[in-house]
Amino acid sequence: MDRTLADDLARLPELLDATRRAAAATLAGLDARPVVVPPVDSLPDPEPLPEHGTGTEAALAAFESRWAPRLSASAGPRYLGFVTGGATPAALAGDWLTATHDQNSNSALDGAGQDLERETVTWLRDLFGLSAAHTGTFVSGATMSNTTGLAIAREWLGERLGVSPAEDGAAALGPVRVLSGAPHSSIAKALSVLGLGRGSLVAVPTLPGREAVDPAALDRALADTPGPAVVVANAGTVNTVDFDDLPAIAALRERHDFWLHTDAAFGAFAALSPDHAHLTAGLDASDSLCVDLHKWLNVPYDSAVQFTRRQDLQARVFQNSAAYLGPLGDHPDLVHLTPENSHRLRALAAWFTLRAYGRTGHREIVERDIACAHALGAALERDPALRLLAPVRLNVVCFTLTERPTAERLTALRRAVEADVFLTPTVYAGTPALRAAFSNWRTTRADAHRVAETLSTAAKELT
Ligand SMILES: *Cc1c(COP(=O)(O)O)cnc(C)c1O
Repeated sequence: MDRTLADDLARLPELLDATRRAAAATLAGLDARPVVVPPVDSLPDPEPLPEHGTGTEAALAAFESRWAPRLSASAGPRYLGFVTGGATPAALAGDWLTATHDQNSNSALDGAGQDLERETVTWLRDLFGLSAAHTGTFVSGATMSNTTGLAIAREWLGERLGVSPAEDGAAALGPVRVLSGAPHSSIAKALSVLGLGRGSLVAVPTLPGREAVDPAALDRALADTPGPAVVVANAGTVNTVDFDDLPAIAALRERHDFWLHTDAAFGAFAALSPDHAHLTAGLDASDSLCVDLHKWLNVPYDSAVQFTRRQDLQARVFQNSAAYLGPLGDHPDLVHLTPENSHRLRALAAWFTLRAYGRTGHREIVERDIACAHALGAALERDPALRLLAPVRLNVVCFTLTERPTAERLTALRRAVEADVFLTPTVYAGTPALRAAFSNWRTTRADAHRVAETLSTAAKELT
């Protein structure tokens, strides 16, 4: 064994303890450090590949001095860009143990990891009010969940047309139409990856002043579609967290033949709040469903679930035949269900946080984040320099400058507050805007008020 490696092995408990101390110090300092470090000072001088290593302790010291100070406080309470969760204490513990056990949980040949994942999926199904008709698999994020769901949709189209894209290629389908109101950008990416093409995405009109699809327009678009189609319903759009009317969409199946994929990456968590659960009514009717976990469940990156009612089609797409892997059977191994073959015990962080805090603990996080979004929204509404572009429906505040809302001025505003709060730019209904998305378990009302004050001051000082 390499000498340094052998030394590290001998000192392993001590090294883990040093790493734990560094982690604890990082977390204790989250609130005080800049939320985002300006990109201009962010590149350290390049270092060559070490010829001879100097061990974990030296690597830790180098990381702490060269890279850690440049990382954002995205685990903290005021990183409100994109939709970014943190990691609850239990989720962090689960993630550490995932690496510690270093399982490849992909088959029944060594099955406990798969069983743990299946138990976690059952809990999640319960959390979102899904029936036992849905099976679920862990993937690395909502983009991969959407891609996997749409791959199953592609195979379903084949079933309807008497071909198998998994065997014969996507071209066997001929032209495909994927209908959606305000789809997330990852849907187009998924269609590109799947050989259906970004061009297969057909924009269906949304309701006036909304991002939710107009069900009557969808009805007409389906009537215009020759043959079976795919509908992507959106349960929580990123700009204004608008929800398609899922029961109305599902009811269209009486007249039209389509696969219903729902992107509920973070919107599914509305099911945890009794005041907002109605937004997710009809989620269970989806043929495939995407839910992100590294957002509002507050587990570390990278984690999401793909639910479907047609695991048989999923296995047709992703089966990985090899002499040493078992037959598919009624409960296919995970190796046959997702794009990856090797399968991290990714479910463990989710299992830990659900085991530790349960439904009520996670409901409290969701409700507090929603309350924070409303508090910020109300404060911005009182500020004449700022203007909401949509009502706060759940956990996102979409706003702009009242005077001259140019992309340039919004960038200036965003940069001016960056040490205190991270926001992401967007364009909503043609107007450049900023978004604040609340999904971190650490965020409090005090943070929301601080963000409102910081924004008000900066907006006033903007020339
Ligand atoms: C975040 C998000 C995605 C993509 O998720 P990743 O985890 O970044 O891959 C897809 N759809 C919606 C609605 C999202 O909010």
